[in-house]
Amino acid sequence: MHIQDILSSHPTTFSFEFFPPKTPEAAESLFQTILELEPYLPHFVSVTYGAGGSTRELTHELVMRIKTQTSLDPIPHLTCVCHKQAEVGKILERYAAEGIGNILALCGDPPRTPGYRREEDDFQHAADLVKFIRKFNESGAHPDRRGFGIGVAGFPEGHPATPNRLLEIDYLKAKVDAGADYIVTQLFFENRDFYDFRDRCELAGIRVPIVAGIMPATSLSGLKRMAELAGGARFPAKLLRALSRCQNDPEMVAQVGIHYASEQCLDLLEHDVRGIHFYTLNRSDATRKIFASLGLRNSRGAGSQPK
Ligand SMILES: Cc1cc2nc3c(=O)[nH]c(=O)nc-3n(C[C@H](O)[C@H](O)[C@H](O)COP(=O)(O)OP(=O)(O)OC[C@H]3O[C@@H](n4cnc5c(N)ncnc54)[C@H](O)[C@@H]3O)c2cc1C
Repeated sequence: MHIQDILSSHPTTFSFEFFPPKTPEAAESLFQTILELEPYLPHFVSVTYGAGGSTRELTHELVMRIKTQTSLDPIPHLTCVCHKQAEVGKILERYAAEGIGNILALCGDPPRTPGYRREEDDFQHAADLVKFIRKFNESGAHPDRRGFGIGVAGFPEGHPATPNRLLEIDYLKAKVDAGADYIVTQLFFENRDFYDFRDRCELAGIRVPIVAGIMPATSLSGLKRMAELAGGARFPAKLLRALSRCQNDPEMVAQVGIHYASEQCLDLLEHDVRGIHFYTLNRSDATRKIFASLGLRNSRGAGSQPK
């Protein structure tokens, strides 16, 4: 379904993110996770996209498996890095023919491959990719006359490559002006960073829905990996103190992370968040427990009126 239809008919969306596993065993285990999360009726699920050719095909495979074998609505991520226009055009044609409704358009994390030259890619910034998808949409090649719905990334705590926060919001606005329908944020642990980001977007004239990215810290090693991936995320002392009290007890660490994320979600719901996107790390446990803490049987229970 086109993301505009999803967002306009639900005051608050819930969505889950998965990454395509590299081995058949891990793929089966992920599919089990997906089946466990299906009864939570997420408004959409998204599938990340890597820089390597073979991992990219895995994204497509997972997207199509979700589409054909579950009731869920998958949104593939697509990135600028390591791509020429013609390749992206083919990917869009294939997804359009397969009835995929939306794309999350990203710059992408550059590969560490020796000899890789970012400047040789056809799209330098996500805004260029958004423009390209818009152009594709205008060609009428998608079964929905509006074409693909388009999402883009937002960074409540700023993006490390742009220390000037005012400029960064201008770049975000450029993505929206190029045709993005919604924003999904990087994970954050301080809700006030998200609220401030939302206010700054409002001041900049960014009017599209902003979906908050939440990742429960379920292990200390995961937290470190997360810090690497989410370049710049602030880890509040309150959370770190609680985690360090139980660092030798993995179960308790997970409990602390889930409790913290649940509190974040409760507060976001109190503050009329437009959507919550769970970075699941391909596990269902934390997400299921957070739903229970929110008093939600599934994604359809929160809020009443579209805003
Ligand atoms: C929700 C979400 C999902 C993600 N999924 C993936 C994924 O599947 N695969 C993956 O590889 N990565 C993924 N990432 C990581 C993301 O691709 C990187 O963080 C990337 O560095 C930023 O992506 P972007 O789309 O915001 O890029 P852009 O909007 O292109 O911004 C990248 C940097 O360039 C700056 N910039 C933008 N426009 C200009 C301009 N005109 N001139 C100068 N500077 C400019 C921005 O301020 C920013 O610092 C994801 C991130 C998020 C938040």
